[in-house]
Amino acid sequence: MVDERQAVVSPVMGDHFQWIADVEVGESEEAETAEKLKRWLVDLGIIVPEETPCAISTPGHRPGSHFTRALEDGEVDADPAGMDGVEIHVGRTVFYPGQGEPGPAECPRCDRVFGDFDMESLEYEDDPQIRALIAAAQRWDEGGAAEVGCRVCGQSSHLNDWRWGYGALALGRVGLTFWNWPELSDDFTRQIGERLGHRVRHGLQQKL
Ligand SMILES: [Zn+2]
Repeated sequence: MVDERQAVVSPVMGDHFQWIADVEVGESEEAETAEKLKRWLVDLGIIVPEETPCAISTPGHRPGSHFTRALEDGEVDADPAGMDGVEIHVGRTVFYPGQGEPGPAECPRCDRVFGDFDMESLEYEDDPQIRALIAAAQRWDEGGAAEVGCRVCGQSSHLNDWRWGYGALALGRVGLTFWNWPELSDDFTRQIGERLGHRVRHGLQQKL
């Protein structure tokens, strides 16, 4: 059995991905939620119902006849031949940025931003707070807590409550990874949240 998370953590060079994660669904409803999401995407024509080995190293669903419904308005001419499949995740999953490192991230309690872009070195700052957030994601993946204390205000917040910049991290039990798709629209992410009745998060590919 292929480790789904491995594909998310280590994309093949040249490939990119985006994800949409349900960050509220509980363990008891994860299978039902994923099935509901799949049916809705198939009904809309965004993905085909069959699963094939098309999500790079794992099974996935090829773009359907109306896949542009998921995209930004400017992407109506997107060529599905250049796109790969959509992987549906069920179970405890850490969603990492498509390329690059996680961050910057803002504390939801005091609004302090960590790991921001450094105009002098032209790199993102290597920040201990970002490292603590990554460690919390790994801890949660192994069954631990996802609360992270802020180095400035001292208060703890769940990792999913931190506000992320370009390199978002999210923890969820249901999610989608879109391999080599053009940019998904905010409206599409919002519709998924409404459909599932849960808070969802969209992780973009990094475009530097
Ligand atoms: Zn804080």
